[in-house]
Amino acid sequence: MSANKILVVEDEVPIREMIVFHLSRAGYETLEAGDCSVARQLLADERPDLALVDWMLPDMSGLELTRLLKRDKENDDLAIIMLTARADEYDKVAGLDSGADDYITKPFSPRELISRIQAVLRRSGAENDEIVSLGVLSLDIAGHRVSAHGVEIRLGPTEYRLLKFLMTHPDRVYNRSQLLDRVWGANVYVEERTVDVHVRRLRKALAAEAADDYIQTVRGAGYRFSSSGK
Ligand code: CA
Repeated sequence: MSANKILVVEDEVPIREMIVFHLSRAGYETLEAGDCSVARQLLADERPDLALVDWMLPDMSGLELTRLLKRDKENDDLAIIMLTARADEYDKVAGLDSGADDYITKPFSPRELISRIQAVLRRSGAENDEIVSLGVLSLDIAGHRVSAHGVEIRLGPTEYRLLKFLMTHPDRVYNRSQLLDRVWGANVYVEERTVDVHVRRLRKALAAEAADDYIQTVRGAGYRFSSSGK
């Protein structure tokens, strides 16, 4: 099973530990940051599905961080829930204007926290219990399995992650450097040629079920998953 990954950005250690404790108990994988610069590093390296961002942080406000993240196209899959101790109307509006998907006012119960997270993940389509079907291919995200007309296709871990990324972002072209960032993680120093190697392996595995045409090379631009025209 692959659990959703959640980044907790909160400088107050007891609160952060409490949140992490409840998230782990609910089955989420957690990452922790005490300030925005660590948060940005983890976002780039680990690509969490959701970030819980506290309003009051030492180096930048949670609001500024949220605005910054939402402006960057690299984070279009990232859901953000803001945590705030200030419940007045202005803050709520500003919180939502920043691009945050939801906000939670402190103090909150663990149950409320988990149910808000589930709702936001469901809306953002990141909840890992779905099956993505495109053309003859079916990607079972919870089961970490890929099949074509019901026949299982065995993939290496990198090929699986590559196919998962492409199938959840179909009909868009990604260049090698974007694929490295999104599939391997930023700050992982591998050559761009590595992408080609894994695309080749992925195509070879898909070819067994005649599904390799879905991974298309767009000359001079990169790769795209497309099941149309088949
Ligand atoms: Ca704080």
